[in-house]
Amino acid sequence: MQEFALRSERSRGRKFPESPHPFRNDYQRDRDRIVHSRAFRRLEDKTQVFTTRFSDHFRNRLTHTIEVAQISRTLAGAMGLNVDLVEALALAHDIGHPPFGHSGEKRLDQIMRTFEEQFDHNLHALRIVESFEQRYAAFPGLNLTFEVREGIIKHSRDYDPRQYPELAEYLLDQKPPLEAQLIDRTDEIAYNTADLDDGFEAKLFDLPSLREGLPLFARYHREVEQRYPQVASKLQFNETLKQIINSLVTDLLENSLAQVERAGIASVEQVRAYPQRLIAFSPEVEQQKNCFREYLNRNLYFHSALLPEKEQGAQIIEELFRFYLDQPEKMPRWYVEQTRKAAKHRVICDYIAGMTDHYAQRLHQTLLGTPPPVPVSI
Ligand code: MG
Repeated sequence: MQEFALRSERSRGRKFPESPHPFRNDYQRDRDRIVHSRAFRRLEDKTQVFTTRFSDHFRNRLTHTIEVAQISRTLAGAMGLNVDLVEALALAHDIGHPPFGHSGEKRLDQIMRTFEEQFDHNLHALRIVESFEQRYAAFPGLNLTFEVREGIIKHSRDYDPRQYPELAEYLLDQKPPLEAQLIDRTDEIAYNTADLDDGFEAKLFDLPSLREGLPLFARYHREVEQRYPQVASKLQFNETLKQIINSLVTDLLENSLAQVERAGIASVEQVRAYPQRLIAFSPEVEQQKNCFREYLNRNLYFHSALLPEKEQGAQIIEELFRFYLDQPEKMPRWYVEQTRKAAKHRVICDYIAGMTDHYAQRLHQTLLGTPPPVPVSI
């Protein structure tokens, strides 16, 4: 492990002190607690981009998470970072997502804004691991180490300390350690390439469109065609995607290590104090990544084929929210008790955000009696 890696012996520890485990370090224990949590298992039934209507082998939030963990482990090992910490952070990085993908999150946030609050999935993830998970006799939540909690909230964004005084303990004026910085980039590699894969298989776009819209795809696809002219075009596509993943991972590895070296970073403290994040793609790949975003925005994320389910999901969230505002006593007892300590809308938001897609659909049907509108098939 390099000197800029976070060693578990140097952890700031847990809120509720625990004796060390005989053969697992603290970050390995955190990883295991995350894997055994309810919120982690629920990722299986939370939409990433496509619902199961399209295919039973497209990514959901759990398989996306496993792909992020795989890429993160590989990179962390090659860079000399703490692989155990990276794995714990990767496995936790999406546990705060509400049902129905981005549209569900957006609607929950819109509703919360009418109460002059917000929904932020990273902050929700922190609340899950600090209090909503009820598994252990000795403490509420998962009692994770400081660094895993810090990484959960800070991996993908910075928080203004003046706006979030309640998060002061998480060193908001400092950058997160490299292990947490890494997760944000590996998340991008995983979802950009996976969304291309699933979108292509769902026939939302074809090879000529990909070659025209994505120069990086065009370059590798040409090479693959020359190398494997006889194989099926789906295999040529897969081979191209493999090359793209490899090139993004290699660029992230080389560019980040070069930045760390240029900045003369030799400790975690220096990483924290450095004004920019050091885990980053090169400027050229950053530009290619913008192409991915534009292409996927244009051809996938806002595609009309996905629209009916997105609207349906957002509507279910909204109607459940209104229902519980009128009748909060219909929530499970633990949440009803929370309404004595916190605002009703905050508790309802927490309850709904924890649901899986199908749980929310079934509940909507049971409570409101009307089946959600049937989406139009593509
Ligand atoms: Mg993710």
